[in-house]
Amino acid sequence: MRPANYTLYQNDLPLDLDFSDHIAIDTETMGLNPLRDRLCLVQICSGDGHAHLVQIQPNDTYPNLINLLNDKKKKKIFHYARFDLAMIHNNLNVQCNNIYCTKIASKLARTYTDKHGLKDLCKELLNVEISKQKQSSDWGNKNLSEDQLKYAASDVLYLHEIMNKLNDILNREDRMILAEKCFEFLSTRVYLDLQGWGEPDIFSH
Ligand code: MN
Repeated sequence: MRPANYTLYQNDLPLDLDFSDHIAIDTETMGLNPLRDRLCLVQICSGDGHAHLVQIQPNDTYPNLINLLNDKKKKKIFHYARFDLAMIHNNLNVQCNNIYCTKIASKLARTYTDKHGLKDLCKELLNVEISKQKQSSDWGNKNLSEDQLKYAASDVLYLHEIMNKLNDILNREDRMILAEKCFEFLSTRVYLDLQGWGEPDIFSH
């Protein structure tokens, strides 16, 4: 793993930050159920090796973060966007557009394997080992540990490079348009999830 450079913000993003037009985003939450569990941390990276971590407190407001998430001109790169988008929708009342999902891209590009976790992608595509040890920890704690923050940062630091590698395969195999159509459908998929049409998938028999 490369060193995890990050800045933690307790009260919204500062106004003077300049993000690139492709931003990697991840969230940490109290659990895996968007209807039950709250959003605790939003991680953002421009692809420059530095993660910006915004801690979310119930009842606080995050206008700068929300403006960034609402910026349609910026491509937002997630890994398993379906979950993060539901969390962002329910906690910040934002419907993100212009999405790229490295998990969907991987499933369309890397049909030779069923390993599509972020750890698997970092290992195979970038030869980087990341730790998932802190994934299940108390993200609602007001005082997050250095290990937690490093872990949270590492979840956004590699997404740009992964996207570029996956795009090479998608273009080579002529699956880019299919990937884009799947990314466009994500907002509908999230809406179905939040309205109670999660599993089983309504497209299954
Ligand atoms: Mn994460």
